[in-house]
Amino acid sequence: MSDLGAVIADLVIANRILGREGVCDAFGHISVRHPDRPNRYLLSCSRAPELVAPDDIMEFELDGSPVDAGGRKPYLERFIHGAVFEARPEVQSVVHNHATGVIPYSVTDTPLRPIQHTFARIGREIPVWDIHDRFGDTDMLVSNVEQGRDLATCLGDNVVVLMRGHGCTVTAPTIAEAVLTAIYLQVNAQLQMEAMRLGDVAYLTPGEIDASSQINQPKSGAERAWEYYKARARE
Ligand code: MN
Repeated sequence: MSDLGAVIADLVIANRILGREGVCDAFGHISVRHPDRPNRYLLSCSRAPELVAPDDIMEFELDGSPVDAGGRKPYLERFIHGAVFEARPEVQSVVHNHATGVIPYSVTDTPLRPIQHTFARIGREIPVWDIHDRFGDTDMLVSNVEQGRDLATCLGDNVVVLMRGHGCTVTAPTIAEAVLTAIYLQVNAQLQMEAMRLGDVAYLTPGEIDASSQINQPKSGAERAWEYYKARARE
């Protein structure tokens, strides 16, 4: 058995970091696959990420059913997490957020692409999922398993998927990398917007993205960043 308490502690601090760094406001959430039961995941009850405490962390089946709700109200959009964990066995952590910087790329034909080596982890290609394509006029929220699976299909093998007029979903092999990728996605989006105002942008090449992603694996960049962001969230 793994140390479930340590995983929950990391998930709580991850929630606080995403709040502190402006990736999540009152909305958005981060999950982790259950360390001992891969067909379940851990996710806070419906609460602003920056306020999340250990007792808020709930356990869910991949279909979004709470294992023991204990009177707590789950997030409406929890289906995003189960669908991604179902479709991508190697993914261990999922972030969903409405970071304002990414929204313009979800509603235009301009693709969001890595613009600086540190941000290579967002991946070569970032697809845009449009809930309207299959579900017509909705409240834009991923509120059932079918919508979650449609989103996961659009995500495919990519790291990130944007959601038209809504936000994004980020995947990673660890909680630390999920947090880092979600932060860098927002920063890259803002920098790309500034660069585009100046002229044609020289993006990282596919080869540069792959090479830079290697350097940012958990044993180097991600661990250093995780330590840094944890310290900032405790201030
Ligand atoms: Mn949402």
